[in-house]
Amino acid sequence: MKEEILRQLQTTWAGRNLYYFSEIDSTNTYAKQLGKQSEPHGTIVVAQSQSAGRGRLGRKWNSPNDGNIYMTILLRPKFSPQKASMLTLVMAYSVAMSIREFVDTSVYIKWPNDIVMNGKKICGILTEMSAEVDDINYVVIGIGVNVMSHEFPDALQDIASSILIESGQNISETALISSIMRNFEQAYQRFCETEDMSNIYQEYNQMLINRNRQVRILDGENGYEAYAMGIDKMGQLLIRKQDGSVEAVFAGEVSVRGLYGYVE
Ligand code: ADP
Repeated sequence: MKEEILRQLQTTWAGRNLYYFSEIDSTNTYAKQLGKQSEPHGTIVVAQSQSAGRGRLGRKWNSPNDGNIYMTILLRPKFSPQKASMLTLVMAYSVAMSIREFVDTSVYIKWPNDIVMNGKKICGILTEMSAEVDDINYVVIGIGVNVMSHEFPDALQDIASSILIESGQNISETALISSIMRNFEQAYQRFCETEDMSNIYQEYNQMLINRNRQVRILDGENGYEAYAMGIDKMGQLLIRKQDGSVEAVFAGEVSVRGLYGYVE
């Protein structure tokens, strides 16, 4: 598997240095340990299953050994720490572009960083960072893609699905990993040219499922309805509130849902 991934990679740095595990607690946790050492920019950690896969805000990521992708990339960006949260959107864009290369079914991004097919979540992304005031030590971006799962636990039935279930297509995980790394390497370079989403946000918006829709913004205890217009150059979601005012929402603390369910 490891050799197969390395053989298929068409990148100059992303994924060239690779750690592969049949099982691990969390690829993000392992990549953070590598980040504390002198492991180079672009190193990836790939596992066949995770015993303690994580989502945002302490949530869990279901990670069975089902032919899915659990992968984390370690980055050592030169830009300031405030910019790092946008990398989550850069990765979402890259993963969506990649899955589109393989399937005929529509693939969308749910802001900021989930990938959905037929209204179901097939990928989640978790970005974590270690930084000083002005400098980033390292960033890790974890990706969980449900590629081949046939079924999900009851609690996830309504929101989660896999590429196989939604498209009926069998995709090779190694080919998808290689495509994600290729798209990410290109998108990261475009991001670094401006250190924001200027080069990417229009293409991102074209794949944004929440665009031009009523959404529910979940902000801690509070929730409110708004009309989502798309992201701006800083990756913030522009929303029009019920009183007509337009606001930019930052991805850090909020989640977005459809009025009745996950996206609808
Ligand atoms: P959010 O969509 O609220 O930002 P996260 O990106 O942090 O959530 O992902 C964690 C959530 O995703 C979990 O609380 C659970 O609802 C859901 N989830 C967990 N494992 C999977 C999986 N393998 N596929 C799809 N959804 C999952």
